[in-house]
Amino acid sequence: MQAQPRLPLLPVAEANPSDWRWQIRHAITSVEALETSLRLTPEEREGARRAQEQGLPISITPYYLSLCDPHDPACPVRLQCVPRAEEAQVSPGDMEDPLGEVAHEVAPELVQRYPDRALLLVTDRCAVYCRFCTRSRMVGDGGGARSLDRLEPAFQYLESHPQIRDVIVSGGDPMAMATERLVAVLQRLRRMEHLDTIRIATRVPVTLPQRVTGELIEALRPLHPLWVMTHFNHPKELSPEALEACRRLADGGFPVMNQTVLLRGINDDAGTLERLFRGLIRARVRPYYLLQADPVKGTGHLRTSIDRGLALMEALQGRLTGIALPKYIVDTPGGMGKVPVLPGYVVARRPGETDLRTYRGVVVTYRDPPEG
Ligand code: SF4
Repeated sequence: MQAQPRLPLLPVAEANPSDWRWQIRHAITSVEALETSLRLTPEEREGARRAQEQGLPISITPYYLSLCDPHDPACPVRLQCVPRAEEAQVSPGDMEDPLGEVAHEVAPELVQRYPDRALLLVTDRCAVYCRFCTRSRMVGDGGGARSLDRLEPAFQYLESHPQIRDVIVSGGDPMAMATERLVAVLQRLRRMEHLDTIRIATRVPVTLPQRVTGELIEALRPLHPLWVMTHFNHPKELSPEALEACRRLADGGFPVMNQTVLLRGINDDAGTLERLFRGLIRARVRPYYLLQADPVKGTGHLRTSIDRGLALMEALQGRLTGIALPKYIVDTPGGMGKVPVLPGYVVARRPGETDLRTYRGVVVTYRDPPEG
């Protein structure tokens, strides 16, 4: 049988899939374009029609679309990027802004939820709009990359608050911006000597790995130390292109950390997470957080219970080397902060003694040293 085409058909002279700008220019943004590549179910067609009219729009790079199974609506990549009719449903506890970012805005595009760090939202655009996005209230709103003038009050706030030691540059996806614009933002931040870390939060290694060019690495290298926070959710996303992007980042001196969102039907089984986390450490990417999905309006069909997350962490503890095992985190609704959640390994506590349950299921007593 002849293989199915994995990319939308384009005139040969026009096609340059290894160019990230080509990928962005040819991103799928309509239900009609989706139909040419995937056999849509009625639920997907309805979801895509709705997304075209309201809420989080559709954008899928030809590259990311090529990872989708055209015949399987349960494909874990497809579930992340193709809208479904269930997005119209509101579950108990759903919120527009689950992390309370609007309430914690301290300057335009600057959110501060912790004393020592702040989040700078530099664009509303992403290569792919993920259907579980925490920031669906604002991504794809059409504003584009924020100008330096617009960000200036945020820069001034950061300058006048030296207790802020860590800035996360996010959006939208900062790496979906032109290199010069991203560099200008980072140069402005780099002048602030009180910042220990600047982190770039980006899904580009996953959804548009062609963006991680030698030119980008060379432009960012003088601004070190820069950390990259990326977002692989499924081992299928660890394609040769994605692994090459991770290699370039690691070779360029960027510590690369990964935040996986726990998603129903996509990665909520121990075998899938194990393959993902092992694949990440082979790519020199540290699995940092397994995030309980935020209760974003219209994402109930993609979320699991916390019980499920705890059971998965329990299954992975002891089975995976510590460097591959992320922290399981619930970012509490309302923006009250992240909470690490652990299975119950502390079985009992008495003065000077703690009973601990190991991954083997054996209970062992640890005795404290004499108080001295
Ligand atoms: S890349 Fe990040 S900000 Fe953009 S849609 Fe996906 S999760 Fe949201």
